[in-house]
Amino acid sequence: MLVMDQNVKKSKCVFMDRDGVLNEEIGRHILTIEEFVIPEDVPNGLKRLKEAGYRLVVVTNQSGIARGYYDDKLVDDCHDLLQQACDHAIDQFYYAPLVDSVSKSLMRKPDSLMFEKGIAKFNVDANASWMIGDKERDLVPAKKLGIKRIQIMALVEESELAEHRVHTFTEAVDLILNTDQG
Ligand SMILES: [Mg+2]
Repeated sequence: MLVMDQNVKKSKCVFMDRDGVLNEEIGRHILTIEEFVIPEDVPNGLKRLKEAGYRLVVVTNQSGIARGYYDDKLVDDCHDLLQQACDHAIDQFYYAPLVDSVSKSLMRKPDSLMFEKGIAKFNVDANASWMIGDKERDLVPAKKLGIKRIQIMALVEESELAEHRVHTFTEAVDLILNTDQG
């Protein structure tokens, strides 16, 4: 029988949406690697969070795969580029390739399965963790799971589910580190 060790220390995690958070929002699906543009401040922000002891988990809807706009390889290539830029600070990428018109999926935000996978894999304390997203559907699963919520204002409307609103990734990182470390 598998016995869970109750004394194992849980980890804290920063969950992050991808488009509009880690790469520039272009107002439609990313169709080529050239369109995947990482803002200058993102790699350093990821490294600062990593050094502060957070697990870093990307949770991204990529329904363009089910819609036939691009394939898994483009998604993997974009994520490789991001990892190279931040010295492999990111622990895990989850992406949801489906869309309701093709097949319903609990992976796709606003459902929460991608978050739950990360919580299980890294033994995450949800209440000590954060989500950085730009759309309301990023924040819905975070609220459901008790994860703190930051909205980056890209090309989107304010979400009432946001506990904090910022305009850059660096501001989000500063907010997390200042809040948790005082
Ligand atoms: Mg987004």
